[in-house]
Amino acid sequence: MDLCRRRRGAARRAWSAGALGLIVLVLGGCATNPVTGQSQFTLYTEAEEIELGLQANREMLQNYGEYTEDPQLSAYVSQLGLAMAAQSERPDLPWAFRILDDEAINALALPGGQIYVTRGLLAYLGRESELAGVLGHEIGHVTARHSIHGLSRDLALSVALEAGLVLLDEEDAEPVAALGLELLFLKFSRNQERQADGLAVRYAPRVGLDPYGTVDALRILAQVSAAEGEGGFPTWLSTHPDPDRRWHRLAEENGLAPVTDAAALVADRQRYVSRLDGLVVGEDPRNGVVEGQVYTQVRDGFQIAFPPGWTIERDGRSVVAASPGDDAAVLLQHGPEASVQEAEAALVGEEGVTTGRPWNESLGGLPTRLIGFDTSLDGTEVRGYVAFVPLGGSVLKVIALSETARFPSLQNPLYGTIRSLRKLGAREAAAARPERLRVVRLDRPARLRDLAPGATAAELERLALLNDLDAGAADLPLAAGRWVKLRVAP
Ligand SMILES: [Zn+2]
Repeated sequence: MDLCRRRRGAARRAWSAGALGLIVLVLGGCATNPVTGQSQFTLYTEAEEIELGLQANREMLQNYGEYTEDPQLSAYVSQLGLAMAAQSERPDLPWAFRILDDEAINALALPGGQIYVTRGLLAYLGRESELAGVLGHEIGHVTARHSIHGLSRDLALSVALEAGLVLLDEEDAEPVAALGLELLFLKFSRNQERQADGLAVRYAPRVGLDPYGTVDALRILAQVSAAEGEGGFPTWLSTHPDPDRRWHRLAEENGLAPVTDAAALVADRQRYVSRLDGLVVGEDPRNGVVEGQVYTQVRDGFQIAFPPGWTIERDGRSVVAASPGDDAAVLLQHGPEASVQEAEAALVGEEGVTTGRPWNESLGGLPTRLIGFDTSLDGTEVRGYVAFVPLGGSVLKVIALSETARFPSLQNPLYGTIRSLRKLGAREAAAARPERLRVVRLDRPARLRDLAPGATAAELERLALLNDLDAGAADLPLAAGRWVKLRVAP
């Protein structure tokens, strides 16, 4: 049995059950799509859409964290986004634009106007109009009510299936019903992507920016996501399907051409790139690193060791470790609760969960509250422990569980994993530092190879991508006056 995957399934079912009440309330509601002006089938009111987005935003920030190291950069992204949203068809939504502290390259829109770009994405863009293209695209998903439309379709589909009817053709959509973080995995259809691209092109000139920036941004993000591969966080390509080099089509359909005014282009670059100096690039070891069987998280100052042979997956600040037979798992999560008492009360009060008598232990210098529990997942009885560890204003939950029938033989590795928790020393914490971008303006022609002495071939390739150059461009002379992004070791 796969405990980890079942967790997702359980979350979706809980959502469906909760949504049932909603269906009764608003079934059959029709709303006018603000972008197309056409009436469309939808089950959510705008107030519900906003509430859903705000709820998911809390989970989003809990799990992935906001990048707060550069308040000026955050304010810049936010101001550009707000200026564009104010010119959109839905100016009155509670729009919010945030930088997520993640190295994956992506941008996301939640219903109701919660928009995110990762710091990984920001590093690869080269001018303000490109950022406007990305923000405009995500704004477009919201103004055209794409995710909420996807949700409605899925809801409608389940109602139809229950009634033994097939109402919807699924020609172009793969709607994934979602609550909270699951919204992230909602895949937009090709038509929706195309519509969002078109809206980005429409919005950028309204704030005085080059619509061709959207074309460049789509091209860069597709190229870089393809080169960088997979991370825990979904990448641009996984949430924005790009089957046929759609930036070409976008330029053609809208009659867009690259800007030829060199001075305008320089100003567009300077307004953006100069702000990236000091940006954290790549994996930030302070946010959590898996080395061998050990997970170290410097921001909250703890370490935990998993049994030999277990697989370990990190997704943002969550970690899931599974036994080789998938019959036991340990999950690390940061709960929404502010205190251990609150987190414990939530577990004890949870329906279908039986808990034992809690106890306190000091684990590697960390005061910890432990409690045993029994519950059932998908009809399978499971047993385990939860450890609550107060860490810097939030509560780390370590959940160690297995099938109840297998628990006697798995109890030792499960409890042993919890007991491996330890507080990091100040010196260990100080040693973990990320790479950063250094942005320079060339005062004379130079080659990337000379600007990054000692870089390996692979590092030079990544540097070329970072500067929107061909992978083999390390030896090309770059003109004086050009802005160049370099990576500097801690
Ligand atoms: Zn999209």
